[in-house]
Amino acid sequence: MTPSTTPPSDWQAREALILAPWAMHAADSVGRIHEEPPHPFRSPYQRDRDRVVHSAAFRRLAHKTQVFTGYHGDYHRSRLTHTLEVTGIARTLARGLALNEDLVETLALAHDIGHPPLGHAGEDTLDLLLADCGGFNHNAQALRIMELLEARYPGFPGLNLSREILDAQAARVARPAGQAPLLEAQVVDAADSIAYDTHDADDAVELGLVQLDELLALPLVAAAAATVRDRLGSLPPVELRRAVLHELIESQVADLLARTRAGLEAGRIDTVAAVRSHGARLVTHAPAVSAGKRDLERFLFEHVYRSERVMAVRRPAQRRLEELFAWYAAHPEHLPPGYRDRATDHGLARSVGDYIAGMTDRFLERDHDARCGRG
Ligand code: MG
Repeated sequence: MTPSTTPPSDWQAREALILAPWAMHAADSVGRIHEEPPHPFRSPYQRDRDRVVHSAAFRRLAHKTQVFTGYHGDYHRSRLTHTLEVTGIARTLARGLALNEDLVETLALAHDIGHPPLGHAGEDTLDLLLADCGGFNHNAQALRIMELLEARYPGFPGLNLSREILDAQAARVARPAGQAPLLEAQVVDAADSIAYDTHDADDAVELGLVQLDELLALPLVAAAAATVRDRLGSLPPVELRRAVLHELIESQVADLLARTRAGLEAGRIDTVAAVRSHGARLVTHAPAVSAGKRDLERFLFEHVYRSERVMAVRRPAQRRLEELFAWYAAHPEHLPPGYRDRATDHGLARSVGDYIAGMTDRFLERDHDARCGRG
């Protein structure tokens, strides 16, 4: 069957055809801080997406800890595979709500680029080390990378991303009063939560930190298991675990889509301005699902994030980071030129923090051992 009309190939016509009125159209973008000529065939958000993927900060996610480090084996998620899972879920939500998928993909791919090595252990340590000059927060660091630290173009510092991306990232640090984020940003936050609740549970069972039966006792997981049993009958444990994890994602996505569509209709949301002035988020879970997620997160915190096996790796890693920070603070001449130059305006501590935050887990370990000695 031949289509009755040829689909448009230029991005403006294409977006006008497929995006909902509550979606952020690239044609309505505020633009970039440093003006650039339009691209002949990529939309502004497609360019943003490509800039994120081509950044050094994005590539290094492959060797940064999500929860578990290389010491725990190689089954579990890295910061990069977490990011890709978030991106997939966010795209599904975006398509279901006729949102701007290019913008969603950019926000999802960039959402964790500010994380330092060693996961939250690294973040907590840097926050203490930088306490006198504003502390350290991965969301603020992502904005710093986007606006300043990535040096890829001769005309300006940073990636010069569209303002909607910078604003969404800034809103993660401090939400502007009375303004809700774009729906594109809201689906990424929701997808992030679905991804980590599910994959951390999976990784924890694989690593033997928790038993499948313990997870199945939690209401959210029990509901997913009941759906699986209705559909597939009883399964051996390994297959049950996989099916339950798939169902956990599926059910949370379905819940978000239904709730969000109902909220858009009830609130008569028909523009981006209405999304923003709505104040409360529209991409939300049903109360029972939110409560179930909180139970699961409490369980994961206690049995996984604060487990002895995770903490045992965390302590020596934090000590290495502290020692390396002190070493560069005492030997600033060994910082790479960009970081050394910025120390003049931004302070030495911040520049050392920027440099260490950009390191992968393994680079930090090797650099530590070379500078400060092994152990
Ligand atoms: Mg994340």
